Amino acid sequence: MGSAALRADLRSDTVTRPTPGMRAAMAAAEVGDDVYGEDPTVARLEERAAALFGHEAALFVPSGTMGNQISLQLLVPAGEELVCDSEAHVVSYELGAAAVHSGIQTRTFPAPRGVPDPELVAAFLRPEGYHTVASRAVAVEQTHNRGGGSVIPLAVLQALRARTAPLGVALHCDGARIFNAAVASGTEPRAYGALADTLSVCLSKGLGAPVGSLVVASADRIERARVIRKRMGGGMRQAGILAAAGCYALDHHVARLAEDHERARRLATRLAGVAGLEVDPAQVETNIVVVDLPGRPADGVAAACAARGVGVGVAGAHRLRLVTHLDVDDAAVAFAGDTLAEVLAD
Ligand SMILES: *Cc1c(COP(=O)(O)O)cnc(C)c1O
Repeated sequence: MGSAALRADLRSDTVTRPTPGMRAAMAAAEVGDDVYGEDPTVARLEERAAALFGHEAALFVPSGTMGNQISLQLLVPAGEELVCDSEAHVVSYELGAAAVHSGIQTRTFPAPRGVPDPELVAAFLRPEGYHTVASRAVAVEQTHNRGGGSVIPLAVLQALRARTAPLGVALHCDGARIFNAAVASGTEPRAYGALADTLSVCLSKGLGAPVGSLVVASADRIERARVIRKRMGGGMRQAGILAAAGCYALDHHVARLAEDHERARRLATRLAGVAGLEVDPAQVETNIVVVDLPGRPADGVAAACAARGVGVGVAGAHRLRLVTHLDVDDAAVAFAGDTLAEVLAD
């Protein structure tokens, strides 16, 4: 079902459409050929992102997947190892890209709701040696998508960094929704930035830009990242039109993420009283609501919701995922809650 037929589309925060203000900023963008390094709007976005996270440089890339994969290639040589939690986006939804593009081996550890146990991770790492595959990087995800939008506490990241850095193991942060984490926990983005060697940040999720992500790292690494991006086919020409949407999003769509979090909590509270489903409002930290449907197929419930004008995501055989975002207002959230309750009462 196309989104045009949906009154409330909570399948993902990627479904947002650029607002009139964002479109105006895009139309007015000053542009140049960014493969020649001549697009002033892309340069401005990259400088802003680097400053926000307290790093030297940043690189504008077409997608979060490319941002993650460039970062992993920067940190892990072929034949060596990336370690991450078993539900991480980099090993769940990127189609084996680390193996295909970079010859990287991945090994995964369990992490309830995507929050890693620093002691467990430290014990899991393997040293360099004649027989062993050396662990070169750990990846964390902020917020954690399959963890239900959970925020990894800054103290956990600090403990993880303290255990991994002395071993020479780098830290990558898949920060697709890192601004959700920053707003929800009242943490400055640069505090997260200080703990990671590389970060990827999505502009096309809750921030509402149509396209684009950023890789944030040291100047040396971003120089190399520019080459890797071109090799992966991600060099873009007058990309300032897209970067302008990103700049606009950083100006106008960060603080308002708190509204998405409030609506997600309200939706979870509304659903908590509905028979036939399980949801824990206390676990809703940001803009994702996970709903379990014991004994009912999630795809059937999702199809019934779609037929009534509500888009919900299927996150497992008996699990739905509902995501609030820029294009979901109070009325849409109320309608989604009532509709899901109706469908389950049938
Ligand atoms: C969406 C997402 C990405 C990147 O997705 P793209 O669709 O490639 O932009 C990466 N990590 C997480 C956790 C995500 O949710």
